[in-house]
This record gives sequence, structure tokens and C-alpha cells, in this order.
Amino acid sequence: MAIQRFRALEEVLSRTPVHVELPAKTVSDFFGENVFNKETMKKWLSDEAYKSVKAAIEQGTKIDRSIADDVASSMKAWAMSKGVSHYTHWFQPLTGTTAEKHDAFAQNIEDGKALERFDGDQLVQQEPDASSFPSGGIRSTFEARGYTAWDPTSPAFIIGQTLCIPTIFVSYTGEALDYKTPLLKALHAIDKAAVDVCQYFDKNVTKVSATLGWEQEYFLIDSAFYNARPDIAFTGRALFGHAGAKGQQLEDHYFGSIPERVLAYIRELEIECYKLGIPVKTRHNEVAPNQFELAPVFEEANLAVDHNSLLMDIMEKVARRHNFRVLLHEKPFAGVNGSGKHNNWSLSTNTGKNLLGPGKTPKTNLMFLSFFVNTIKAVHDNADLMRAVIASAGNEHRLGANEAPPAIVSVFIGSQLTKILAELEKKVKSGKMTPEEKTDLKLNIGKIPSILLDNTDRNRTSPFAFTGNKFEFRAVGSSANCAAAMTVVNTIMADQLVKFKKDVDGKMEKGIEKDEAIFQILHDYISATKKILFEGNGYSEDWVKEAKKRGLSNIKTTPEALKVLMRKEVVKLFEQNNIMSEREQHARYEIQLETYMKKIQIESRMIGEMAIASIIPSAMKYQTSLMENVVLMKEVTTYTPSLKGEMKSQKAVLAGMDDIESQQLPSGRGASAGDLVSSQMETIQEISEHISAVKNNVYKMIEARKKANSLEDAQEKATAYCEHVKPYFDEIRYHADKLEFVVDDELWALPKYREMLFTR
Ligand code: ADP
Ligand code: MG
Repeated sequence: MAIQRFRALEEVLSRTPVHVELPAKTVSDFFGENVFNKETMKKWLSDEAYKSVKAAIEQGTKIDRSIADDVASSMKAWAMSKGVSHYTHWFQPLTGTTAEKHDAFAQNIEDGKALERFDGDQLVQQEPDASSFPSGGIRSTFEARGYTAWDPTSPAFIIGQTLCIPTIFVSYTGEALDYKTPLLKALHAIDKAAVDVCQYFDKNVTKVSATLGWEQEYFLIDSAFYNARPDIAFTGRALFGHAGAKGQQLEDHYFGSIPERVLAYIRELEIECYKLGIPVKTRHNEVAPNQFELAPVFEEANLAVDHNSLLMDIMEKVARRHNFRVLLHEKPFAGVNGSGKHNNWSLSTNTGKNLLGPGKTPKTNLMFLSFFVNTIKAVHDNADLMRAVIASAGNEHRLGANEAPPAIVSVFIGSQLTKILAELEKKVKSGKMTPEEKTDLKLNIGKIPSILLDNTDRNRTSPFAFTGNKFEFRAVGSSANCAAAMTVVNTIMADQLVKFKKDVDGKMEKGIEKDEAIFQILHDYISATKKILFEGNGYSEDWVKEAKKRGLSNIKTTPEALKVLMRKEVVKLFEQNNIMSEREQHARYEIQLETYMKKIQIESRMIGEMAIASIIPSAMKYQTSLMENVVLMKEVTTYTPSLKGEMKSQKAVLAGMDDIESQQLPSGRGASAGDLVSSQMETIQEISEHISAVKNNVYKMIEARKKANSLEDAQEKATAYCEHVKPYFDEIRYHADKLEFVVDDELWALPKYREMLFTR
């Protein structure tokens, strides 16, 4: 069987295109060709419409209905010029994937004639048949409608023959049913709060945008293996599998050369991304075998989120053409590194300034310091919410399990900035700083981030790290929609900046000069937030102990983490900043609990099915062959007077001896018939034990599942799955993997780690 598997793989390999041509001479020739971006709009829209859309993108102004008609008709003309026949509102429901419902432009088919129609109404709003999307009870049946509404800040694009219009997705009563709606609100909140703070330093700042540069990690496996592993196909991860002899221990995959076949895939993926205006830039191997990463140049956060959602979709489509399947699961292979999605986040102004970037003048450095310290404060005050927003069934295998990043939220800022903060704290405390000292301090700050930027030896174990000109939220799951993390980061920052302004204004009202007031407040924040800063190894046991001593949370499971979403202060945070109502938050909380529960439930069922119908039968087949062997051995050695002469000559040749009775076999010197078969008997026994352990645990797991299923409350049910069903997974897997280790390779039905993980 093993050889057949490889023959099949070779066949697949020979079909795979290894050479992918660029569709034009250079990337810039076709970059964004399928996007209705500003440049294209300028060509196709009337002056008035163009200005209106541009203002909507840049200032968030509303677009007039008559202008929308104008935009729709130009969009349609542009799309049709590119062979497009359909349009769809493209949105990101809480299922975690993207959704679309295609409608034809062609309408009014009368007298054998059709007319392509697409007007402002169709552009601006649609009512998809949305009753199957999760709504967390927001949409009871009488108001079962959901609406999509055009988001002009993210440009329309073409996939295949379809014009896709990015939209938000809300209920009839206006509640958010998607990822984008709260994100847009959070981006609005951070814009306002950050502009207000910038006014202390630079009156020209009138707009602040959050920026996001994601780094997407993923695994590739051959589609033949994917299809032969129902666990991977249905749950995204290998629920069984003995670790291969060679894993990542040699670290030869990381930054190694990319296999040709994979390169062809990546190349085509990049081309598709370029056409859609996704500025992908870096590609390299990751730590684990068959693991890769793709990262773009950062963009405005809403656009970057859309691009990441789009990317996850395209990755899958392109992979199929190359006989690959993409695994976005956070931990597809136990014992091998998992995948994350780093969210590099910063704030940038209309004046072209990165607020978390190094400055050139003392004034901009104080602005940097303010945003920097406020970020630390925001994370310090909302650490549990940061933990909650990255909680998922998949990420649970990484956070707080045997893999990093840890479930303990901390912030890494580097030794230089640590020193600066300590100095500031000391000096401000000791009384007024002299103007020279302040200038010195500000100048010094300016030099620091560039040191960090060049520093290749950054701390890689921190869940939230400052990397010179941005913070990197590293604990986001690889399959997650970045919008959730970005909504939280921007909301807590907006909230914090509002408080900061209030604090500083308070001091100034008391007659304290602005610079001094800012220094004093920053001093207070630095003193109050020290416990969140951590420079050491976030993966170590020591940190777990140390964090506990500091009073930091270490929330291990998803159901536990999700509880945070319903804490009073969290509900208030989202309400006060106009991001989500309590009802919307509650809906999200329920949806996530349910998603978690369902994922564990599916895994549990799959484990049972595979154990009973594949693993145990394979083991029994081998066991039967061992038993046949034992019977035959016994026959041969005890009941063989007539065969003796023949056996004697044969075995004598083999063993170089004349007497079969005293033949020395490796397992039993001068063995009797019983001894001769003892090693087989041992294996038979061992197999029986593992089989019964697998079986017993499967049945116990099913019982636990039944109990969990009888619970009504979403929190209780998810917790029961987490605490009473999931623990059987490892138990069952342990014995199943032992079976894989002993059973004849030819008889093992499932592709193994070593086959799946090394693409040649
Ligand atoms: P790594 O984390 O692998 O060391 P980098 O530190 O170079 O890689 O991070 C690169 C990512 O950071 C890219 O996705 C890039 O677009 C993003 N990035 C750089 N500057 C910013 C910024 N100002 N805002 C948001 N993301 C940024
Ligand atoms: Mg990174």
C-alpha cells in the first residue's frame, strides 16, 4: 500500500504545472486590474460621482442616492467590459468564511430580449436569503431578514465573471450580523479619539487611520492525502497520527528553499492577489515542514481585513488547481508547530505620520511616546478581552497548551524602551523635569525604535510585541477573521485615548503646562501598567509562575475566555464607544460558544468513526496475521516429523547449523516452540490492549457527549464539551497512535505524518 501511495503522489506531481507565467511583463502592468479602485473610478465615473466616492472613502461622508445610481451604472459598464455577467454583495458573516449570492445583471427578459441592469438600489442594499447565517438569536423568525449594505471604503472587485461589492451585513433592526460592521465603528472611534490627541502636537492632523499588516501562516498538503484523511478534510486537523521520525527538529524547513511545486502554487496565488490589488510581498517557509507564510504590505485596516478574507478564499481555490489543499487550522498536526496570523497594527495620520513610528523632532517623539504608552495602558486594562478575542477551538491547541504564544497576555517593548520608561518614571516622580531633560528624553526616544527595527533578534514569544514602528498581535488564529482582533485593539485604544485626553486636559485646567501635564500622565500610566510588560521567554514555565505572582490572567480554555465578553466592563466599553450594543455582544458571545461546541462535537464524532471503522480494523487485520503466524509456527516446530528433513536442510542453510532443535533465533536461543512465538504473542497482546483502550474510551466519550448534548445553556454546553468530552481525544489518540506504530505499514489505511508532511 505504501508504494501505491507514492505512485499516486508521483502521478499527481507529474500533472502539476511547475511553471507559472506572469500575465504581463511586469506586476505593475496588471496590479489591481480587477479592482474598481480610485484610478479606475476616475476613468469610469463622472467627476461628481468620483469626488463623492473619494470623500466617502477618505472622510466617511454619505453618498447621495442619485450618485449611487451613477456609480452603479459605471461599475456595471466597467465590469461588463471585463466579461462580467453577475454581481454579488460580498460580506463576512459570523460563520468565519465569506458569503456571496450571485445575481445576473441580465433582467427584464421580455420578447426574447434581456437587458443588463444594475442601479443604485442594487448597489447600496440587498436582502440575501440569510436565515441560515448565525445571528445568536438576534433574528427571530418574524424578523428573519438580514440586509447587506455597500461599504464604499472598500473597493468592488471581480472574481471570475462576478462583480463583488464589499458590504456590511445587518439585521432588519440594524444589529450587526457580521465582522465588518463593528470594525468600521471601531475604526471611526479610533479616528476621532486619535485626532483629538494628535491636536496636542500637530494641528494639521485631521484624520487617523488604523493600519494592519497581517502575516498569514498555512500548511499545504497534497489533495490525495487530504481526501484520504477524513479528519483533515472535515475538521482541518489530523485527529490521529504518530509523529514521524523526522519532524522539524533539524529546522531545515525554515527559510529553506521552497519546493518547486509549492513555488508554482505560491506564484499563481500571488498573481491572483495582484490582480485583486492585494499587495503581497514576502513568502517563505515556516518552521514546520510544509508550512508557509504570506504577508502583504500593510494597508488601512478595513481594506486589509477584506484582503485577508479574500486571500483565504483564493488560497483554497488556487490550491485545488495544483492538487494541494490549504490548511488554515491553528494546529493541524500535533507535535508540529501550529499556524497563526500576526496582526501588525499601527496608526497613521493624514499628514503621513506613523504614530507608533520613530520621530525626527522632540515634538513628534512626545507624540510617539504618548501613543506608545497609551497602547500599553489599553492592553493592560483590557488584557482579558484581548485573550477573549483570539479564543477559538483551533487556537486552544496553541494558547496555553503545549505551544506558544501563551494564553497570558503581556507586552514586549525591548530593553531600550524599558529603560526610557524607567527613566521617565523616575525623573517625573522626583519633581519637575528641566526643559533640557525633557528634550533629551524625547530625542533619545527617537533613536530607539530604529534600533528595534534593525534588531533581528526580537522577542518572538510575546503575544503583543512592539517591533519598532508598530505593535504585533501575534496570538491571532490562522483561520480567524482579523476583523475581530482589529475591532478590539482599536476599540480599547480609542477608549484609552479618550481617557488620556481627559486626564491631560484635567491637569491643564489646573494650570499645568501641556508638556508637563502629558509627562505627568504618562508617568502615572507607566507606574500603573508595569505588570503587563514582559521581556523574557513567554513560552517558559517560569513565566507562568511569574505571571501568576503579578496577578495576570492565564485563561486556558475557550469557554472560559468567552465569558469575558459578558463582563460588565466589557459590555460598557463597547457600548460607550458606540461599537456594539449589549444585545449584539450577547449574540456574538452565544455564536462563538456554539461554534466552539460544534467544532469539538464534530471532532469527537470523527474520532469515534475513524477509531471504530478504520483504526481498529487495520489493527485487527494485522493482529489476525500475527495469530496465523503463531499457529503456523507452532505447527512447523511441533508437528512436523515428516517435514523435518526438509526443514532441517532449509533452516540449516539459513542459520548455518545442522540441528533444527538447537537452532538459535534472535528472539530465543535454543528456543522451544512457545518461546519462538512469544514476541508475536506479546505484540498480539499489546494490540489487544490498545484496541480495547481505544474502544472503551470511544464509548465513554460518546456517553460524555450525550450528557453534554442534554444541556440547554450555551455556556454550560460548551464547557461540558471542553472539560468532559475533549479530554478523551488525547486518550484515544495515544492508543491509536501506538497501534499505528506497531501495525504493518501495508495494512494501515490512513496516510501518515511522514507522507503528508514532506512535499517533494
Ligand atoms: P516579521 O514579524 O516576520 O519579523 P516584519 O516585522 O517585517 O516581519 O513584519 C512585517 C509586517 O508588518 C508586514 O505585514 C508589514 O506590512 C507590517 N507593517 C509594517 N509597518 C506597518 C505599519 N505601520 N502598520 C501596520 N503594519 C505594518
Ligand atoms: Mg511577525
